[in-house]
Amino acid sequence: GIMRKFIVGNWKMNGTSSDLSEIEAIATMSANYKTSVDSALCLPATLIDRATSLLPAFTLGGQDCHMQVSGAHTGCVSAAMLADAGATLTLVGHSERRAGQNESDADIRGKAAAAHVAGLKVIICVGETLEERDAGKALDIVLDQVQKSVPDNAASDWLSIAYEPVWAIGTGRIPEDSDVAEMHGAIREQLVARFGIDGESMSILYGGSMNGDNAAMLMAIPNVDGGLIGGASLTAAKFEPILAAA
Ligand code: PEP
Repeated sequence: GIMRKFIVGNWKMNGTSSDLSEIEAIATMSANYKTSVDSALCLPATLIDRATSLLPAFTLGGQDCHMQVSGAHTGCVSAAMLADAGATLTLVGHSERRAGQNESDADIRGKAAAAHVAGLKVIICVGETLEERDAGKALDIVLDQVQKSVPDNAASDWLSIAYEPVWAIGTGRIPEDSDVAEMHGAIREQLVARFGIDGESMSILYGGSMNGDNAAMLMAIPNVDGGLIGGASLTAAKFEPILAAA
């Protein structure tokens, strides 16, 4: 397995210039753990340029990108624009975008490919709804998302997966350890079947109500290579115990 954990914060639609001091606090705190943990913050696109200027050594990412480099797409942000602002990674396919912006697996595959072309690392998010889990379809749904969202040229030096059960995001509920182990193990098997030995090195993050109290337990599960963290990434005080557990 992968020894070094990858801990990524997702600020969602939160943060203005008045939050740059908290971002700086998170970067300063994270630097204390950098010999053992890779960490990053995925910020609103509007903050990336200023945060990069303030914190050039800290890894910053976007939360989405368009699949085209430029053009007639009012309101959208391209991967090249994120990279130009200082981002070195981006999320794609977060469940809030799959649901709220009707993004398909094909869209997400296109976005991931575009982000890679722009030189960004990419975290592709997947996860089942509660209805799908209750119907016994979680594994099928998630493995289908992975199959269709991950580009054929994916490699462990730029691509990570985040398994985020939709019903665990922002709810305080987390799956049973055994369910996390089963899902991450199945994703691993699929990556290895498709990408060979390099599939062993692709990080598979868990996301959904991870916090300082449950992080150590979640990250002890086989094939959990780190976390994608929403609410608990908004302050250095909440984020630090997760890095400490990694
Ligand atoms: C997320 O949105 O990626 C997430 C994991 O959120 P939270 O940690 O708040 O559940």
